[in-house]
Amino acid sequence: MSIPRIVVVGGGAGGLELVTRLGRRLGRRGRAEIVLVDHSPTHIWKPLLHEVATGALDSGLDEIAYASHARGNGYRFQRGTLRGLDRQRRRLHLAAMLDDDGEEILPARELAYDRLVLSLGSVSNDFATPGVAEYCHFIDSPGQAEAFRRDMLDTFLRYSAAAQHESPRLRVGIVGGGATGVELAAQLYDALLMLHSYGVTELDHHQLDIHLIEAADDVLPALPERVRQAVRDELQGLGVQVLTATRVTQVEADAIHTADGQRIATDLAVWAAGIKAPDILTELGLTLAKGQRIVVDDTLRSVDDPDIFAFGDCASCPQADGSSVPPRAQAAHQQAQRLYRNLRAQIDGKPLKPFVYRDRGSLISLAHFEAIGTLMRGASARRLFVEGHLAKFFYVSLYRLHQRAVHGSLKTGIIVLVDGLNRFIRPRLKLH
Ligand SMILES: Cc1cc2nc3c(=O)[nH]c(=O)nc-3n(C[C@H](O)[C@H](O)[C@H](O)COP(=O)(O)OP(=O)(O)OC[C@H]3O[C@@H](n4cnc5c(N)ncnc54)[C@H](O)[C@@H]3O)c2cc1C
Repeated sequence: MSIPRIVVVGGGAGGLELVTRLGRRLGRRGRAEIVLVDHSPTHIWKPLLHEVATGALDSGLDEIAYASHARGNGYRFQRGTLRGLDRQRRRLHLAAMLDDDGEEILPARELAYDRLVLSLGSVSNDFATPGVAEYCHFIDSPGQAEAFRRDMLDTFLRYSAAAQHESPRLRVGIVGGGATGVELAAQLYDALLMLHSYGVTELDHHQLDIHLIEAADDVLPALPERVRQAVRDELQGLGVQVLTATRVTQVEADAIHTADGQRIATDLAVWAAGIKAPDILTELGLTLAKGQRIVVDDTLRSVDDPDIFAFGDCASCPQADGSSVPPRAQAAHQQAQRLYRNLRAQIDGKPLKPFVYRDRGSLISLAHFEAIGTLMRGASARRLFVEGHLAKFFYVSLYRLHQRAVHGSLKTGIIVLVDGLNRFIRPRLKLH
């Protein structure tokens, strides 16, 4: 008797947790064949990317090679980029893989599935603003974060020579006052402090001008006023110029233009304003919601096809109050658990259960300066304001939960130990 093949496309915050659970429970026991497809050979937890971008985290230490993880956890890994779908024949189309010179390494392929799970995450949405694609950095993938880091180091060095004779100012424009923009601004000050203390650059943090530009009336618009106020105060204390209710209309090689007529000169520009699901989702013939997200029912199944599921940032899952589940790592983590149970139930011929999102709170880490946020307490879901070490502890715990889901408790304990040792052995910033 043949066993069902479950193909998961996208091994990110949610997808990797899902294939790990499915592989351990169904793959190892021969109850289903579990296949993960991702266009990258390695995984890094996306909320760490702003730390990769400033060198606060060496991605080489935290990334997971899918192929070896697959072998130890009962699933198979296929490297590939989703290019299309044949729903009648239940087949995925994967694009040909090319090397840096455009030479074909692997031809375009098809992959058959019985159940398909799409967890492709999201990318930045530039809302077709002129100049953004050409002149802004994005922090959506490890490659982009690494490209920003190299550009940042080169720019710091370039200005360092000038700093010996004059007092130049290094200007960074960050568009988007959500968690990514806010955390990146603080990380940049921290990075410059460290680089100055290592003697890598003559520039000090007083010579860094960061403009954080947000179209809404405040930074972190989804968070409570008390958190927003605390974050604003902290950023302004560092020297960040926070511009709210300011819409960017155009970006040039050396400046950002706003709708109210300002021209903000920049040496580095980052776009972190809004997200959408990857464009390929518009070509699959599935119903989409705002931001190109796949519309699923509350069991995470596509409203168009009972064999297709979607979750995480690329899915629009309804909530009881009429809104959809927010695109966050904690939502992807919770959905991976529900989907794992639903896929098992489906194989056993049992009914699927609805997903209910539990907001555990929101935490913002401003590098080594401060951590601030709220935790949801008890069944009444009362908000508890936290800051300092306690907030930092809960901020890090979300990543530890992800590590526990993909490595198990013992290995995560060892990783925590090694991370502690690395803080003594290695420089605090990746310098090369
Ligand atoms: C800088 C930053 C900081 C953040 N901080 C937080 C935070 O503090 N708290 C929080 O809750 N959330 C945070 N988020 C949001 C969080 O990272 C996402 O909500 C979460 O990663 C979504 O998980 P996912 O599994 O849906 O997608 P992802 O984790 O993005 O994974 C998507 C996967 O799909 C793969 N993929 C994409 N397209 C294709 C394709 N065509 N073919 C094959 N593979 C493909 C990618 O390689 C990737 O592995 C942050 C995001 C960023 C960028």
